[in-house]
Amino acid sequence: MKSNSIPTCVEHSQPKQWQLTTFEYDEDGITVRVPNIYAWVCPENGEASFTAETVDELILTVRDLLETAKRAKSRRASPNEFIVTLN
Ligand SMILES: [Zn+2]
Repeated sequence: MKSNSIPTCVEHSQPKQWQLTTFEYDEDGITVRVPNIYAWVCPENGEASFTAETVDELILTVRDLLETAKRAKSRRASPNEFIVTLN
């Protein structure tokens, strides 16, 4: 089990909050956003720190999506931003 220690924002010296935020990933001008992902968020500037587990889990989905997006990009009038909703 993980410990319950709450990370502190080094920049603002504030305890971070475990809350839903949007995971964002950019590559080759394509942005992938995954809303409603839990992360430690700084109450001052809203900067999110995703846990390694979350990133490991999401990166597989995001990579698949980027491959699809890159293929789509070779066609004209394709979107360059993708939003994924995971339930
Ligand atoms: Zn901060």
